[in-house]
Amino acid sequence: MTTNIILLGPPGAGKGTQARKLEEDRGMTQLSTGDMLRAARTSGTEMGNRVAEVMDRGELVTDEIVIGLIEERLESDDTNGFIFDGFPRTLAQADALGQLLEKKGQSLDAVIEMQVNDEALVKRITARSTCASCGEVYNDITKPIPDDGKCENCGGTEFKRRDDDNEDSLRTRLLEYYKKTSPLIGYYYALEKLRRVDGLAEIEEVATAIKSELDA
Ligand code: AMP
Repeated sequence: MTTNIILLGPPGAGKGTQARKLEEDRGMTQLSTGDMLRAARTSGTEMGNRVAEVMDRGELVTDEIVIGLIEERLESDDTNGFIFDGFPRTLAQADALGQLLEKKGQSLDAVIEMQVNDEALVKRITARSTCASCGEVYNDITKPIPDDGKCENCGGTEFKRRDDDNEDSLRTRLLEYYKKTSPLIGYYYALEKLRRVDGLAEIEEVATAIKSELDA
């Protein structure tokens, strides 16, 4: 049976890290609108350039663009289930997702809210880097790049920091989260989809908590 879930939480809550684990453990497919938009911005098109400016400021890209990206992927991908990471971020996106899944004859099984506190987020995000080849996420404090300088997942040796992982754009991203995304917590609670996990626990503990919510 396919399981479709949303990982919900502010920037730096660990959504990407847990999505990648779920891909490995359950053969699900991560759909990260942030990753898709980062790919689009390197296209050199006018749309790509506009998206880049908005992202670097830490603001949200229009609903129309991100819903379009998700729609394309939902049509083309065949999978054991989707992990929506960084989508939906507005009520309009949440409504659209419900409709897109329904059109596919599928539904949303659970929304996992990853709870963290804001101080921890600033620390996490400014310490974050990723492997340039496979996207494995590292953190100077909690999960440093291995001593041999090689990515533990793919052996890559190049690591990068995101353009929007600085304190200024993080403040804007947090504001956007509280203004536009956090209402989704109430929305999915009302739909009886909401589950909560402590996003500040160790990576493996968070993974276990998510697993037990999904198996419950
Ligand atoms: P993320 O990688 O999820 O932190 O997303 C990075 C940036 O991409 C965000 O700060 C937004 O500018 C943009 N973005 C990603 N997902 C969405 C979305 N669902 N709606 C609007 N903007 C998004």
